[in-house]
Amino acid sequence: MQLTYSATQQAFREEVRAWLAENVPATALASYDTREGFEQHRAWERKLFDARLSMVMWPEHLGGRGCGLIEWLIFEEEYYGAGAPMRVNQNGQLLLGPTLMEFGTEQQRRDFLPRTASSEIMWAQAWSEPNAGSDMAAISSKAIRDGDHYVLNGQKTWSTRASFADMAFGLFRSDPASSRHHGLSYLMVPLDTPGVSIRPFKALNGKDAFAEIFFDDVRVPVANRIGDEGQGWHVAMATAGFERGLLLRSPARFQAPVRELVKLYRKHQDSADRDPAIREAVLKCWMDAEAYALGAYNTVGRLNAGEKIGAEASTNKIVWSELDLLIQETAMRILGPRAELRNEAPLLGDDQGWLEAFLFAQAGPIYAGTNEIQRNIIAERMLGLPK
Ligand SMILES: Cc1cc2nc3c(=O)[nH]c(=O)nc-3n(C[C@H](O)[C@H](O)[C@H](O)COP(=O)(O)OP(=O)(O)OC[C@H]3O[C@@H](n4cnc5c(N)ncnc54)[C@H](O)[C@@H]3O)c2cc1C
Repeated sequence: MQLTYSATQQAFREEVRAWLAENVPATALASYDTREGFEQHRAWERKLFDARLSMVMWPEHLGGRGCGLIEWLIFEEEYYGAGAPMRVNQNGQLLLGPTLMEFGTEQQRRDFLPRTASSEIMWAQAWSEPNAGSDMAAISSKAIRDGDHYVLNGQKTWSTRASFADMAFGLFRSDPASSRHHGLSYLMVPLDTPGVSIRPFKALNGKDAFAEIFFDDVRVPVANRIGDEGQGWHVAMATAGFERGLLLRSPARFQAPVRELVKLYRKHQDSADRDPAIREAVLKCWMDAEAYALGAYNTVGRLNAGEKIGAEASTNKIVWSELDLLIQETAMRILGPRAELRNEAPLLGDDQGWLEAFLFAQAGPIYAGTNEIQRNIIAERMLGLPK
């Protein structure tokens, strides 16, 4: 593995760093799990897009910058290093985007990708149903063909920020006689279509971060289908690969909080060192984040050589979700009894933000497919163990 950067890559890093130094908001935006914060983040995304920094690895004519994946890793390192706002349109940019690149028509790419890069369109993922979570092949929401439209009926749940999003992408049963992973189609649905109703519900952080989406005779053009009719499962597995593999959680997203964790440890070293296990946990977080980064560079090298990420996307997902848990739990141990204080509590001083991050980390082993399911995939497809 070659670990040096070219002069062009260095220049790119410097440009990104300078732009972020000039433009990252001095005060944090409101949470993107609120309507106000969601729109603030949309405006920030537009700014990134105007600077050609939203989706650096997408082709220029589709709203990107035409860079490679190494530049994307560099961008991420600078972005999280600068403490820039969390990316609000991850569903659209990191999951649907690559899916459209691989399975969409040229027309769909031109219609949706530039407006996703600019976040004019914000996306929700509408896969899970009350009886189809880990067992996604149990999806029962229907899309019945009627001329050049599908008519959608059914219910989705756990859809992140669907209360605020403009469109959703999801799987629907287009062949009512089918079962399991056959007869499903992958559709893009504007959430203001008549017959769509959205009921928000609260996440662990107390905000309306989730929603249920109800479809009641919702008409969606056939032109909004990605891939062939009945082939939705195949397309969805590619989306899941992007979610678990390289894109959704870049190493920089964990290296930055680990640097903060080291600072927190140093600041409270006298009390933290009373338990030597804390010092070891800090070190483990740092080493694991660095190892994850090296692994990502290795994966990019393999992708650049024409290989594909297969079932090992599942190992990746376990690594980043368990790393995040370890980082946040270690911070809680350093803060001791103060860990449970909310940001506004005077006793917390400037040790803010850890509780919220700790709560969100609990979800890591659940979303993008639970870690138990990833372990099943590793056992069966990588290790060849029996079901
Ligand atoms: C923060 C967050 C954001 C999310 N965002 C979205 C979103 O935007 N869109 C969307 O569609 N969904 C979203 N989800 C839903 C998520 O995809 C599901 O929660 C997940 O797939 C698990 O499904 P479930 O909740 O129905 O749990 P279940 O499938 O009922 O699982 C319950 C438990 O049983 C275990 N289990 C189930 N089957 C097996 C098995 N075969 N072997 C071993 N263990 C098993 C699971 O691992 C889990 O521990 C989100 C979830 C979270 C927490």
